[in-house]
Amino acid sequence: MIMYNIACQYCIHLRARIGHLLPEGLEIDRAIGLFHVHGHKDQCFFRYSPSFIPKSGKVAGEILESLWSILNHIAPSTRTATLGHRAEILDDHTSDSNRKKGLGMGK
Ligand SMILES: [Zn+2]
Repeated sequence: MIMYNIACQYCIHLRARIGHLLPEGLEIDRAIGLFHVHGHKDQCFFRYSPSFIPKSGKVAGEILESLWSILNHIAPSTRTATLGHRAEILDDHTSDSNRKKGLGMGK
């Protein structure tokens, strides 16, 4: 699933641009996060709201943006890192964030 603020427009030519890189027969669900989907026309709401996409759950689709302020402190070290090391740093810090959220559930 691709959830993006403008998924309705972004995905129009997606297969033409990167289709040759995707596995054959791959189905891609498109969704617009609940914060942004209400700013689109009604047609987008009913087509791309995660509220109506089976198995997408109740998700705002904005979680990564809410992490930006937390992840800003690692920006200097990722800026000079290699691509692989940058991915590992970001994965480590976002996993840590997810773990802390999991530990805080139910409180
Ligand atoms: Zn739209």
